[in-house]
Amino acid sequence: MKKNYQQSLRNHAEFFVEYFALDLIMDDDGACVGVMALCLEDGSIHRFRAHQTVLATGGYGRAYFSCTSAHTCTGDGNAMVLRAGLPLQDMEFVQFHPTGIYGAGCLITEGARGEGGYLTNSEGERFMERYAPTYKDLASRDVVSRCMTMEIREGRGVGKEKDHIFLHLNHLPPETLAERLPGISESARIFAGVDVTREPIPVLPTVHYNMGGIPTNYWGEVLNPTKENPDAVVPGLMAVGEAGCASVHGANRLGSNSLIDLVVFGRAAAIRAGKVVDPETANPALDQASLDAALARFDGLRHAKGTVTTAELRLEMQKTMQADAAVFRTDKTLAEGCAKMEAVAAKMDDLSVTDRSLVWNSDLMETLELTNLMPNALATIVSAEARKESRGAHAHEDYPDRDDKTWRKHSLAVVDGKKVELDYRPVHLDPLTPVSEGGIDLKKIAPKARVY
Ligand SMILES: Cc1cc2nc3c(=O)[nH]c(=O)nc-3n(C[C@H](O)[C@H](O)[C@H](O)COP(=O)(O)OP(=O)(O)OC[C@H]3O[C@@H](n4cnc5c(N)ncnc54)[C@H](O)[C@@H]3O)c2cc1C
Repeated sequence: MKKNYQQSLRNHAEFFVEYFALDLIMDDDGACVGVMALCLEDGSIHRFRAHQTVLATGGYGRAYFSCTSAHTCTGDGNAMVLRAGLPLQDMEFVQFHPTGIYGAGCLITEGARGEGGYLTNSEGERFMERYAPTYKDLASRDVVSRCMTMEIREGRGVGKEKDHIFLHLNHLPPETLAERLPGISESARIFAGVDVTREPIPVLPTVHYNMGGIPTNYWGEVLNPTKENPDAVVPGLMAVGEAGCASVHGANRLGSNSLIDLVVFGRAAAIRAGKVVDPETANPALDQASLDAALARFDGLRHAKGTVTTAELRLEMQKTMQADAAVFRTDKTLAEGCAKMEAVAAKMDDLSVTDRSLVWNSDLMETLELTNLMPNALATIVSAEARKESRGAHAHEDYPDRDDKTWRKHSLAVVDGKKVELDYRPVHLDPLTPVSEGGIDLKKIAPKARVY
């Protein structure tokens, strides 16, 4: 990170730190020509003209009640893309981490189970032995999360409301805990009031990573797929990091980590921008209609005089998503969830913002973020309801098997208000380098059912 920052300064990159990006500025031909942003320090609105705008705004974990990510993870870039009339891809694939601290969501690393930690239900049973006899508590994230949820649903959760699970580290020597897991011990003390040397930590499956997001090619260029060209590029727009969906993690981020999203695709985007941008040409002119629309949206929210507060509506959305679009998914729960989310989203027209100021206005900021979270949530639950199979993180009780014949395709969701329209685009199946040119033999990486 430090090196990156130093290199950025060396190359005269300018940072606009307390700026909140509001909307993309698109021209009549569908190209992105810049971005509009609010300076939080003084309330001024800025228009940035750009040959290339690169979105790196992170995931949207905060659409759920329990998530490990930061409060800034509100899917802002994703929502800007939707407001520009472009689709999001594979939003139904959400990775849950099994061990978020109950209530707070803070992450207890997998290393805790790696060191010998184990999970128990209300009967004190180490239930993972039943579900995954070989790997037990070290089965993959989605599997452990799902097993915990099954235990809770079948009435074997712990606590007053029987709605969570215990993670035991208290059998490990205190020296090991102090030496190998000091951060975990501190988090458990602060966020659960638990002394890990004596008591178990209350935990719950918690949103950890969004596989879906803004569709891109492997150069980070954003796609606006059409029937004729499923890989059609949006000129002037790129997305990297958790916001982007180059689909490198497929439907589940198990065998890789975020470094590829950040470092590999960050670099690829820079290389590509170096090729497609002519530094001798002027920045494109900003489209007035697009600017007016962004400003009108901002002003409308700042002066919102409805009856529903942002905090109330955000909580309703988060609880609905947690109940109906988490790890336990059936036709019935997903259909009910879609109907509930449509009703929740309808209340966006009745929002109330009481602080009309422009400087460090947290009421306005949280409202702007809610307008970003809501379409992400809608796209997620509607895409999940439509996918009648189990694949990766999308485990569907009514369709437990993967169905490559019908469902080996990317979901595309366009959101307009509370309405979501779905479409699909084919998955790239051919490697960039064929075996004859030294590429990997596809037989070696053929899909295989997971066994634990
Ligand atoms: C607790 C925890 C542990 C993790 N551990 C690992 C791990 O061990 N290995 C691993 O590979 N991954 C891990 N992850 C996942 C990984 O951290 C994320 O996938 C990664 O940080 C995403 O990086 P990003 O740059 O795309 O987004 P972020 O790191 O979320 O950064 C997005 C940035 O955009 C800014 N932003 C958002 N909206 C706007 C806006 N409208 N205007 C201006 N700025 C905006 C935000 O303030 C933020 O600075 C972990 C995640 C969590 C939460």
